[in-house]
Amino acid sequence: MSDNNPCLSCGACCAHFRVSFFWGECQSAGGLMPDDQVVLITPHRVAMRGTESKPTRCTALLGDVGQGVRCTLYKERSSTCREFEASWVNGEHNPQCDSARSAHGLPPLMPPVAPSIAPERVA
Ligand code: SF4
Ligand code: SF4
Repeated sequence: MSDNNPCLSCGACCAHFRVSFFWGECQSAGGLMPDDQVVLITPHRVAMRGTESKPTRCTALLGDVGQGVRCTLYKERSSTCREFEASWVNGEHNPQCDSARSAHGLPPLMPPVAPSIAPERVA
């Protein structure tokens, strides 16, 4: 994760949504996620511990939302976490990113401003 990643000073989605995924991503099924970090929510799905009920906050999230955060399971994180992208980081808007940030009193991320191009001088 690069230093200019907006997620490093946010963390809102980790403290807003139920973060669920297929149980097959857990270590006991051959995946990466430690089993003790999840709770079973359906026969085939688990949720990150702390996100299965309100108030929501993944127990793997360290720090203060909107200030500075770190995921202690970054390398082992689920497909749900890997696929959730901050708005505009890859050029696409993610309304769920806006929603999570808004729930924590944070403004939506804005698309990068295109560099202005000076008009060509006409001789
Ligand atoms: S809400 Fe958006 S900016 Fe904040 S941590 Fe999640 S993806 Fe990153
Ligand atoms: S595992 Fe990491 S990225 Fe996923 S919700 Fe928890 S703190 Fe956020």
